[in-house]
Amino acid sequence: MKVLEDRIRKDGIVRAGNVLKVDSFLNHQLDADLFEEMAMEWKRLFAGKPINKILTIETSGIAIAVVVAREFNVPVVFAKKAKSINLDDDNYTTKIQSFTHNKVFDVIVSKKYLGPEDHVLIIDDFLANGCALMGLLDLVKDSGATVEGIGIAIEKGFQRGGALIREKGYQLESLAIIDAMSEDGTIVFREQNR
Ligand code: 5GP
Repeated sequence: MKVLEDRIRKDGIVRAGNVLKVDSFLNHQLDADLFEEMAMEWKRLFAGKPINKILTIETSGIAIAVVVAREFNVPVVFAKKAKSINLDDDNYTTKIQSFTHNKVFDVIVSKKYLGPEDHVLIIDDFLANGCALMGLLDLVKDSGATVEGIGIAIEKGFQRGGALIREKGYQLESLAIIDAMSEDGTIVFREQNR
């Protein structure tokens, strides 16, 4: 998506350890107009799918997912990071390894808000190694809901998450895919024909 790629080129900062900082429009200060354009693009890419719920994970996914939920006219549910899991009957639970914080989180979604009747579009800000997405996919599987698609703002195509998810047959739509980046500011985007 050109407008997102242009913004990453203009305002993204490449840090050591393959981290792209996009705090000025995606992760700290938020550009709601940009989110609206992203949501419209996902609406086009997932047209015809019977999506009745958006699922994301706190924290950075939430703001984007809310705008997407408005575009699809459906509720948004976010998976919560829990300090410790009380194994109870009320929640689906899984563990996620965090790329940015390098630790393992317990993550929960209440059974009240996800079930076999749901057709879910998963939304998140970044896809790197795919741990966050794998965790969300686990939760959806436990709930008996159907994954209709996955929308990611920025995929780091040189990490393995995208390939893993596509191998599993999911419709994964990343609005910008970075194939290479370096601390001197060079960012190479993958061509996507759509
Ligand atoms: P994964 O689980 O795919 O390895 O990483 C996904 C999560 O890590 C995203 O939800 C995002 O919060 C964070 N993340 C991964 N790589 C980056 C990055 O380069 N920049 C930022 N800002 N967040 C990242």
